[in-house]
Amino acid sequence: KEAPAEGGIARYDQAFRDAVDLKNRIERHEDHALANREFALYLQPKNRLANGSLAGAEALVRWESPELGFLPPNSFIPLFEKNGFIVQLDFYMLKRVCQSYPMTPASSGEALVVSVNFSRVTILRDGFVERLLRVVDGAGVPHEAIEIEITESAFVMDEDAVIAKLEMLKALGFRLAMDDFGTGYSSLNLLRKLPIDVLKIDRGFLAENTDAERSRSVLKGVIDMARDLGLTIVCEGVETEGQIAMLRELGCPIAQGFVFSKPLPEREFRKLYDIPDSG
Ligand code: C2E
Ligand code: CA
Ligand code: CA
Ligand code: CA
Repeated sequence: KEAPAEGGIARYDQAFRDAVDLKNRIERHEDHALANREFALYLQPKNRLANGSLAGAEALVRWESPELGFLPPNSFIPLFEKNGFIVQLDFYMLKRVCQSYPMTPASSGEALVVSVNFSRVTILRDGFVERLLRVVDGAGVPHEAIEIEITESAFVMDEDAVIAKLEMLKALGFRLAMDDFGTGYSSLNLLRKLPIDVLKIDRGFLAENTDAERSRSVLKGVIDMARDLGLTIVCEGVETEGQIAMLRELGCPIAQGFVFSKPLPEREFRKLYDIPDSG
């Protein structure tokens, strides 16, 4: 009896109600989640392609919620960017990274540079640089041990305001990385004037698509350009040995991806790379 269209609309309604419900539940839980330490620090290695050695790590958040289950960042970060809670979360992750300093693998005896993701919402908040300094200096962490990752899409508006913050951070000795390069906006001209050290090439460049030869030459162009600009190149989302071989050939020095390791809880990351607990 029931017309398929109505069933469709009912299902749509239900999906919409579920989404609103999840949004409400997330917003109801976010504050106590922070106090409860439900946001976990995961780390993913960045490896040198020459010999596989560890070149650094990226901090990535996971939400282990007793009420909502295990949530990946894509399910809550867009909402937190809208409601402003991302500012607290980004600083919480920075604090966690500072508390875990130094991460010194037995193999190298040198503290790893760990990168932290910052939303444009956080970066543009009044007092951002001062607050960041309070956290890092308060923990006694040298500035050059922290790399700050900002996605290419952060420059979509108020470009000059974002650049001004980056210049302050750069002058203070922090390392800066542009994340997700190639996913959106961003002109070569912008790249030229940014005070960044690292270009993270989005995994979209590696996607197996219809014309492997053409995607290889686009990737080669990007890598050559980054090298000419004096930037360190990190290729993201590397999943296969074949991709490693190609990136080596193209002269990409560092890669991050499942082929080396998934993001791991801090404790497992330390175990895998033989990194003793920090004091
Ligand atoms: P991102 O900064 O580009 O981080 C890399 C993402 O790629 C991570 O997803 C990681 O798990 C995934 N990835 C790594 N290697 C591979 C691979 O070989 N194949 C595939 N398919 N994926 C790979 P994750 O952890 O789910 O994070 C998603 C995004 O959420 C991050 O993308 C970042 O934009 C954001 N994010 C995570 N933590 C934070 C945070 O503390 N603050 C802010 N503002 N954003 C964060
Ligand atoms: Ca990142
Ligand atoms: Ca983001
Ligand atoms: Ca990325």
